[in-house]
Amino acid sequence: MMDVALDTTPTYKFVGGWLCLDFCNTGENREAGYVGELLGSYQNLLAWSQQAGLLGASEIRSLSMAADQRPAEAQAVYQQATRLREALYRLFSAIVHGRAAANEDLAELNTVLAQGLGHLAVQQAEQGFGWVWRSDAADLAQMLWPIAHSAAELLTQPNLQRVHECENGHCSWLFLDLSRNHSRRWCTMEDCGNVVKARRHRQKRQTT
Ligand SMILES: [Zn+2]
Repeated sequence: MMDVALDTTPTYKFVGGWLCLDFCNTGENREAGYVGELLGSYQNLLAWSQQAGLLGASEIRSLSMAADQRPAEAQAVYQQATRLREALYRLFSAIVHGRAAANEDLAELNTVLAQGLGHLAVQQAEQGFGWVWRSDAADLAQMLWPIAHSAAELLTQPNLQRVHECENGHCSWLFLDLSRNHSRRWCTMEDCGNVVKARRHRQKRQTT
């Protein structure tokens, strides 16, 4: 089947080690009042959700068609997604840097959590039982529920202390440092790690 939309679909990076952190990393280079936007549309939110393993190909097709039929609603969901993402970024960034989390950011998370939790169900699996998100094929916001759930899980467990923000000043990507000696400092070595090292190398040469 031909799918023209696929040709312009970005390939997203998943280096955060936790779903909601990877979602935060669809924005980058944050400064006061500025976010480098890597999503940009509801269709790209779908692409990210598929690459994240949240939605399968047939669900993506249904949602993509529903979004074409209800563009205003798709746009509203997209805006809610980026609002949730920035609230999560601010929450985790505050925690990383020892600042107090803002109540309105927590409220944004809890709003999506409340919308999603009613869709959580237990289902028979091949072995035993598993959690599933039950949703109507046309529910455009369904990918936000597991993202919010993943944030709630991370906020309420000891791994929270392992959340870090990339040390390359402008990057603003978040990740879970699961290295044995807690030594991970950059989102990726090929992006920020090498940039920082090259910069330090230059500065060192200039001062010697
Ligand atoms: Zn980085």
